[in-house]
Amino acid sequence: MPELRKDPVTGRWVIISTDRRKRPNDFQFGRPTIGGRETCPFCPGHEELTPPEVLAYRQNGGAPNSRSWDVRVVPNKFPALQVEGTIDREGDGMFDRMNGIGAHEVIIETPDHDKTFATMSETEIARVLSAYRARVLDLKQDRRLKYIVVFKNFGGAAGATLDHGHSQLIALPIVPEYLKEELDGARRHFEEKERCVFCDILRQEQGAGRRIVQENADIVALSPYAPRFPFETWLLPRRHATRFEEAPEHEFEGLARMIRSVVGRMNRALESPPFNLIVHSAPFIDGVDMYHWHVEIIPRLTRAAGFEWGTGFYINPTSPEEATQVLRAVKL
Ligand SMILES: [Zn+2]
Ligand SMILES: [Zn+2]
Ligand SMILES: [Zn+2]
Repeated sequence: MPELRKDPVTGRWVIISTDRRKRPNDFQFGRPTIGGRETCPFCPGHEELTPPEVLAYRQNGGAPNSRSWDVRVVPNKFPALQVEGTIDREGDGMFDRMNGIGAHEVIIETPDHDKTFATMSETEIARVLSAYRARVLDLKQDRRLKYIVVFKNFGGAAGATLDHGHSQLIALPIVPEYLKEELDGARRHFEEKERCVFCDILRQEQGAGRRIVQENADIVALSPYAPRFPFETWLLPRRHATRFEEAPEHEFEGLARMIRSVVGRMNRALESPPFNLIVHSAPFIDGVDMYHWHVEIIPRLTRAAGFEWGTGFYINPTSPEEATQVLRAVKL
């Protein structure tokens, strides 16, 4: 059973997941990913290499776990957290721990081994987003779970260990620190001004225009004012909304279109960099209406070095204004 432990100084929870030690290449950072279609557990025809699916879209029908799927969601074979069991929050002297209850799933985005978010169609990406939503809506019924993060690591340097396009979902019994920071910030801004900080950012950036990468009817892609990483890009719905999974269909379509073109721009401008894509959405607790869901896309162009670890400061060598210009100049 994985375990959650709380650092008594910072209050940060850590997942101690010793099961994952089974993965032989976990500690060999930067090693190229292995295998092609023949050994790929995500390719059609290899369904028996993954745990049984929890969701699949089959446009043309077909039995569960058969090869006819368009998008397929399976539990992670090496889960960081597990669904069975009870939370059993307990103290150990001054320390706090709880069982690592949660879910860890893999969304296989396409049956095509080589397709990426830049080469998939908008409809195909929208289907992946619908799968994200369907899993979040299902898992959030479990009252033990407080937060679900959906993310994608593309490329070895971003942490992907398989080439075949996939995203991951982790459902947690706690709200992670990075989201608490955003929530606290949004709450502070709201208490002071009675406005959403993200709506304010949108208004100001749209007025100035210098950091707007692209806009469509539903979504605005921008370089944040103080990005931690070069070419960090946020995709925000224009309309204030707290939760990703409650977005109407047209926003999903707009988001799919925007993801496709932002990833396409990054690929052209930065030679198909590894990247992380993370959905930030409100946790399943009260008093979070001032939060505004969004997607963050971060190309992995630099490695966190000793300075970041030592000081807690990020050093970003590219200004967001310059990043915006570069991304905007790409002809799609
Ligand atoms: Zn494959
Ligand atoms: Zn807002
Ligand atoms: Zn965020």
